[in-house]
Amino acid sequence: MRVLTRALTIGIAVALTALLHAQGFDLVIAGGRVMDPESGFDEIRNIGIRGRTIGAISTAPLTGRTTIDAAGLVVSPGFIDLHAHGQTAETYRYQARDGVTTALELEVGTADIDRWYADRKSGQLINYGVSIGHIPVRMAVMGDRGPFLPTGPGAHKVASAAEIKEIARRIEDGIRHGAVSMGAGFPYTPAASPEELLEVFRVAGRHGTPVHVHIRRGVAGLKEALALAGQTKAPLHVVHINSAGTTATAEMLAMIAEARKQGLDVTTEAYPYAAGMTEIQSANLDEYEKASVDRVAQLEWPRTGERLTPESFQKYRKAGGPVVLHTNTEEMVNVAIVNPQTMIASDSYWENGTGHPRTTGTYSKVLGRYVRERKALSLMDAIRKMTLMPARRLETRVSAMRTKGRLRVGGDADITIFDAARVIDRSTYREPGLPPDGIRHVIVNGVAVVANGQLVNGVTPGLAVRAQ
Ligand SMILES: [Zn+2]
Repeated sequence: MRVLTRALTIGIAVALTALLHAQGFDLVIAGGRVMDPESGFDEIRNIGIRGRTIGAISTAPLTGRTTIDAAGLVVSPGFIDLHAHGQTAETYRYQARDGVTTALELEVGTADIDRWYADRKSGQLINYGVSIGHIPVRMAVMGDRGPFLPTGPGAHKVASAAEIKEIARRIEDGIRHGAVSMGAGFPYTPAASPEELLEVFRVAGRHGTPVHVHIRRGVAGLKEALALAGQTKAPLHVVHINSAGTTATAEMLAMIAEARKQGLDVTTEAYPYAAGMTEIQSANLDEYEKASVDRVAQLEWPRTGERLTPESFQKYRKAGGPVVLHTNTEEMVNVAIVNPQTMIASDSYWENGTGHPRTTGTYSKVLGRYVRERKALSLMDAIRKMTLMPARRLETRVSAMRTKGRLRVGGDADITIFDAARVIDRSTYREPGLPPDGIRHVIVNGVAVVANGQLVNGVTPGLAVRAQ
């Protein structure tokens, strides 16, 4: 009897599957090289998508209402960016063309989780999410009116015991309201005392929420963050190890490996550019006030391409705007990008019509220059750094990440399809808005947002990524 029931069940299942196939899929991606970093799968297959979900990965032909011919192209999980500033319709467009399907602002974050998500609720091109940020919370509590990063008491005023308590309370409130993680940037808040930082790390530790930190520069900066994480059991994510490390990058990656061996939950990320960018008025640049002429000449004003002098530095500091920091070498960036611990994250930055080329070229640059041209990374390793690793960093707290970053039946249909023989970044410091070449199709929740290398207009399939 039991055997009969089982046979019957299987029979029904087979019939059901056949029926579903006969009905076809909403979207079929036909004949692409399907690469899944979780299983190591790397074969030519057809993918059938129904609604927002991958319904089949198959050698058999699949029929769909729409079919993308992916012959000769790589089919990868959509890229997940853990470090994306801007978070506007404009930056979502730039990032979509670079293959990004989920852009998360986890370093600076926001002071008001509910409002941040409500502001984007009408629909976005790609998936989006945010952290509760120590920087903006501190700005709110200390009364700093800087537009994005603190320039007044948020940066320079020591908080009283009551203010520290209020900062910690608001961070905890943000975590309770579904912040993806907690953000911090010690060089942007130089007046935050060790007691204040310990207090906010304690909050993160209690909730098992990762802290995404822009650490102070060099080995001492990493030691400080590792000590805070160790004391409070807060998971730690060190943002852009390339620019935080510069000449000490290799040593700092070894420190992270050692900390992991000791059982600390610590991860890191990098972007593939030797120059950084930030707001010229931020406290992070206070040290250039009294720096040598050579040191100030590391700064470039992107609107004109000029290198700064002590005089022009003062002039532009009064005006405000993004500034390029030429502080690293290609060699050290390479060390950061190829290290197996490092995720790829863009630190995309765009302000009033200009920004950093990493906003538009991070992922295509890694695929074109590091994988194809220099063979510094295998294609699968690069994809893993862009998809599975960031998903895993967040999935303990954010269940939505458990179905992203991999290509499997039942997974989210966030998919990036590119030409591995052609993909390349084209944006430069002078022309940061140039889109890359070779990113052919980008699917977000089953809907194409880039088709044949062009943006699709009028679609907003992007959903909020938020902890429950
Ligand atoms: Zn950043």
